[in-house]
Amino acid sequence: MKKVAIITGASQGIGRQIAITLAEQGIQVIANYNKSEKEAIKLKEQMKEQNIEIDIIKADVTSRNEVKKMIKYVLEKYKKIDILINNAGISEYKMFIDETDEDWNRVINTNLYSAFIVTQEVLPNMIHNKNGCIINISSIWGIVGASLEVLYSISKAGLDAMTKALAKELGPSNIRINSIAPGFIKTKINEKFSEKEIESITQEIPLERIGNTEDIAKCVNWLIEDNYTTGQVISINGGWVI
Ligand code: NAD
Repeated sequence: MKKVAIITGASQGIGRQIAITLAEQGIQVIANYNKSEKEAIKLKEQMKEQNIEIDIIKADVTSRNEVKKMIKYVLEKYKKIDILINNAGISEYKMFIDETDEDWNRVINTNLYSAFIVTQEVLPNMIHNKNGCIINISSIWGIVGASLEVLYSISKAGLDAMTKALAKELGPSNIRINSIAPGFIKTKINEKFSEKEIESITQEIPLERIGNTEDIAKCVNWLIEDNYTTGQVISINGGWVI
């Protein structure tokens, strides 16, 4: 029987590439999206051209109710969930002093609370099956902190702490949880940076290039295949942060 994977925020960017890579490996992919329906449908059609059926499911991962409905749908259809990729996220680029309570709630809810609720909702099935692989997509900024991205850094450090603590709790249930902390990856989230800024970032990276979504998807694939890595924060960043 095929492995079943849920990927949050999978209609574009890193999540989309993870969905494609896993589906091409023969994993049954459930690609979650919230607002970008057009992109999600495009992804489904693109996979169909390769004779691969994926599910696309709309759910705001900051809503406990919508998450519950999504997981119920998946469990009714496939009876199990083997893999969860907590990928949905937003960035926030502002002076800390200007951040509002609304900013805090938006960033922390989208990047951290979402992982709390989606993980909680899939866990009963994983614990029952004594099998599971959870991957949190965090960030180098959760490790070293970023100026003008303090809330983002807090949310990603929180994800890494969740990875480490929960790995200890879930190990006896044979559920592995790891973080992948990307460096600078070319996606929409980085559209705010000019070509010139990206050039100067590239100069700081020992491997002399920014990352692409495949660099992250390959690591996801490896973590799924592996069975002795848990509680780790694996930073895929070209050597930018060592
Ligand atoms: P992206 O903006 O292309 O993708 C983020 C996805 O999350 C989008 O599809 C968005 O619609 C979705 N999303 C946001 N809020 C949601 C919600 N409430 N419910 C469901 N989906 C929601 O950016 P990306 O670069 O592909 O980012 C993916 C993840 O990787 C994010 O968590 C991001 O923080 C992390 N990351 C990215 C980089 C980078 O350089 N691109 C670096 C480090 C970490």
